[in-house]
Amino acid sequence: MSLFKLFYPIAVIATTPQAIKTLHPLCQQIGATLHIPSHQTSLDNAQVYQGSLKDYLASIWSQNKVFIFGLATGAVVRLISHLLQDKSSDPAVLVIDSTGNFVISLCGGHQGRADHLTQLIAHQLDITPVITGATNNLDLPGIDILGLPFGWRKGEGNWTAVSSIISRGETIQVIQEVGSTLWQKYLPSNHPFSFEFSKFNGDVKCQGLILISATKTQFYSDLHFPKVQWHPRILWVGIGCVKGTSESLIEKAIFEVFQQNNLAIEAIAGIATIDIKSNEIGLVEYCKKRQLPLKIFSANFLKKIKVPNPSIIVQQEVDTPSVAEASAISAADSYPNSLLVSKKIIKSKDEGAVTIAVAQSSLEYTGRIGKLYLIGTGPGSLAQITPAAKTAITQADVIIGYSLYLDLIKPLRRPGQVVEASPITREKQRAIRAIELAKWGLTVAVVSSGDSGIYGMAGLVLEELQKKDWDGKIPQVEVFPGITAVQASASRVGAPLMHDFCAISLSDLLTPWEVIEKRLVAAAKEDFVTAIYNPQSRTRTQQIIYTQEVFLKYRNPKTPVALVRAAYRPDEKIILTSLKEMLNFTIDMLTTVIIGNSSTHSHGGWMITPRGYD
Ligand code: SAH
Repeated sequence: MSLFKLFYPIAVIATTPQAIKTLHPLCQQIGATLHIPSHQTSLDNAQVYQGSLKDYLASIWSQNKVFIFGLATGAVVRLISHLLQDKSSDPAVLVIDSTGNFVISLCGGHQGRADHLTQLIAHQLDITPVITGATNNLDLPGIDILGLPFGWRKGEGNWTAVSSIISRGETIQVIQEVGSTLWQKYLPSNHPFSFEFSKFNGDVKCQGLILISATKTQFYSDLHFPKVQWHPRILWVGIGCVKGTSESLIEKAIFEVFQQNNLAIEAIAGIATIDIKSNEIGLVEYCKKRQLPLKIFSANFLKKIKVPNPSIIVQQEVDTPSVAEASAISAADSYPNSLLVSKKIIKSKDEGAVTIAVAQSSLEYTGRIGKLYLIGTGPGSLAQITPAAKTAITQADVIIGYSLYLDLIKPLRRPGQVVEASPITREKQRAIRAIELAKWGLTVAVVSSGDSGIYGMAGLVLEELQKKDWDGKIPQVEVFPGITAVQASASRVGAPLMHDFCAISLSDLLTPWEVIEKRLVAAAKEDFVTAIYNPQSRTRTQQIIYTQEVFLKYRNPKTPVALVRAAYRPDEKIILTSLKEMLNFTIDMLTTVIIGNSSTHSHGGWMITPRGYD
């Protein structure tokens, strides 16, 4: 359910028994409130409304981020037309047909995130999404939501005009001075962006401009094509002030310093100061109003920071020669030359005095709590992935995994997602990278084949987190189960796992061979149905021979054995054989070997283990 938190509160409107039947379960799955008219039979957790739907909608319009209607699209258009105001503030509006075959993104596709939610609901209910937005269908990120994963703030610009240039396939100049360039690396090859000019020189052959900077640029205002500005939050404002300085003076002072230096207020990451000012009312209020973090440092810490303008008076008062400059530099955390604006003192007769300095961080502040989705994608076909796992993959900002598995889930990707593929052997590096991005504030999906918690990435990621003193909460972790190889393989040959079974991996890369040997003996001796993962590689060939020897000691040579290679993939191969014959066939790293117990038998090409012993 946490997958949908981003969209709360969600109102679902259904007026007919059929629509209520379709949408009621959805509300429970995604954490939405169902609104039904008073003449319908009341339901648990449903909100009943009196009178006309039109009036009722007007009364709840501003309280919800999302409206999902179980009505005809025509009726919805008539109902909401007078409530719509502006793309940047309208809620997302979705329509689901009353029998639940289609989910339509009707309004607020980008900024309301209706397109995004439509895809998630389509996975959740396994129904067809209908998204008509042009950039979505060009597989491009929406320009008006481009910076959201990285916490960027929007500056000025003609967003509609720039978006329509992109949908016409015309060229857009991008000048990115600061902020993460991750978004640039995973664009489709025919994208319309031109990144060639590092500095804007006025005679670019393009139809529009996207400027990504911390500055408030005015110099291109005479150019007659549409432009927009995104501001990555890289500026840390260090503040020192006398007791009782008002919020309005702090605001005025920051505004003045930013204006003088051509900096954008939207690019502020946060405010930094000395610990004795952490409860200063004006400062706290300023941060609260603008949703900015307040970082605080002790005098002991600040006094070690090298600053251009130390002061003896400040030293005498608060035991460090600098507050504003030292705390700005400390917050920006990118030594040695992060100070962008040296301290400036602004005084007012009645409102106090404040010192401002600005430092620039090399990495933008996202202002988001990162998440790690540890996802099992099943054996290898889209049909075998759970709806929850599909939803999580579509929801993530970044998808990380082994290249082969990433190809499989390509149809689940959303335009604008960052996709980092790596070779099969780089599991640890993948875990470290995923944690790094999640700590920064991104939602990262780490995909494994089968189940992520069975010889997959889930353990590796959690182990790495543990090493890094993780508190169990931030970044948030959610594990999405998948159909593991032994289940998938078993299903292709019948019901071999009907009694106690175990899985043993023959890979001795991370486990000493002696341990594997002991487990093989125990499983064979105690009559477990045994699934062998990682049975044989090009260089590791002896382990499977040893396995056969051990089992032959304790089990009948005729014991059925299934060799299932690449289950549910186009190159699937299934062989039903016996313990004695099993090595006469190809066994490789894509094979799972299932060895039956003493009562397993084969019948008509199927492998069956009875539920009990006779
Ligand atoms: N996390 C995975 C296992 C990874 S270990 C899971 O839960 O399934 C890799 C081993 O899994 C392979 O060597 C093979 O033994 C088995 N395997 C993975 N996919 C398979 C498939 N589609 N068919 C048969 N075996 C498979």
